[in-house]
Amino acid sequence: MTEHWIRCGVLVTGTGEPLRRDAVVHVVDGVIAGVHTAAELPKDAGPGRLVDHSTATVVPGFVDAHVHLLFTCDLDHERTRAGVENSTPAALALIGARSATECLLGGVTTVRDCGDIDYVTLEIRDAVNAGRVPGPRILAAGPPITTTGGHLHWCGNAADSVDEIRKATRRLCTRGVDVIKVMASGGNMTRGSNKLQPQFQTHEMRVVVEEAHRLGRRVAAHALNTESIRRAVAAGVDTLEHCIWVDEKGAPDLDLDLVDEMARLPVSATLTMAGIARVLLPDADPADAVELGAAHAMSATGNLYDDFAFARTMRTAGVHMSVASDAGVRFTPFREFGRSVECTMEALGLSYSEAIAMSTLRSAESLGLAGQIGSIEVGKAADLVVLDGLANEATRRIAPIRQVWRDGAVVIDGGRVAVLEVTS
Ligand SMILES: [Zn+2]
Repeated sequence: MTEHWIRCGVLVTGTGEPLRRDAVVHVVDGVIAGVHTAAELPKDAGPGRLVDHSTATVVPGFVDAHVHLLFTCDLDHERTRAGVENSTPAALALIGARSATECLLGGVTTVRDCGDIDYVTLEIRDAVNAGRVPGPRILAAGPPITTTGGHLHWCGNAADSVDEIRKATRRLCTRGVDVIKVMASGGNMTRGSNKLQPQFQTHEMRVVVEEAHRLGRRVAAHALNTESIRRAVAAGVDTLEHCIWVDEKGAPDLDLDLVDEMARLPVSATLTMAGIARVLLPDADPADAVELGAAHAMSATGNLYDDFAFARTMRTAGVHMSVASDAGVRFTPFREFGRSVECTMEALGLSYSEAIAMSTLRSAESLGLAGQIGSIEVGKAADLVVLDGLANEATRRIAPIRQVWRDGAVVIDGGRVAVLEVTS
């Protein structure tokens, strides 16, 4: 039996409850066995078993439900696209393995990859599971289902009729994906796709949902404009990616009736706080001119709080939501996930513990993994991030990462990757 008593100056459980002072997390064989007060620390929990983080804040491992491990955070979408299209699967595997390590450096212990090429992320997932490369728990979607010429069509999974869509979904499941990604609307990364229009009919996406659910997979729908959100919800998808509610001209177009309907459904919206949001943070100084220009070109109002008015309305209405990064796209390094959490505090006006919950337990719930990960509660995997200093509810920044634990083992220590234990 491997056992640790981790003393936490501040503990944030990830459930959204207020943070606690002087707590102790008891970890047995990689699983959280108890959460106690410091007074309950056993006398014999001495060196070897006691880990003293009494000057630090301990939060759950972050769950980033929207990343692209094969994308290289370039300065523009065309470069990223060219990088992916022109690389061999072997080269992409190395890029993805590096991204997986970067996730851990950013405190991210679980990711959902929302679109790859050649199923490379499945290999990375399996290599991480086998202990061959360091990385987070990976849920991989493989190549997303899109239309011919549609968003991310260059990932190689276009389907244009009900039969093709059914076959594409079954093929993805046969290849072993964990989740299905469908492009309900066009997107920013694919020139020639129209992000202001839907790509599929409701009945077409319903086929994806039926087949995916029959085969035990959830469906994530990339949906930017309101009509694509409407159709994806009607089709019964599990998560709505981005979900920014714009009309066919790009103007804000929040449908309050649909928001109310979403609040009654199990569907979850994944807000993506990517680099173009991070650069709008008040302390993003000196911001790179290219990044800043791109951010302001995309921003409706020029500031995060006003840009995310729709999200605050959704939250007030009771829509299930989580926060992700879209890491891998332009200006969005994997190791800076904390900046996305800071964007969440800023954009949604949340307290520290509420913002942590949006990026841990809420994300785990949207992935169907809340029974195993996402919070510091008894029975969950011991995925922990140790942050410098003692946070309080008014803290607006995610402090530098001191340590990262995954399944009860230290995987990052002082900014370095811990030695791998190859398990198979
Ligand atoms: Zn994405």
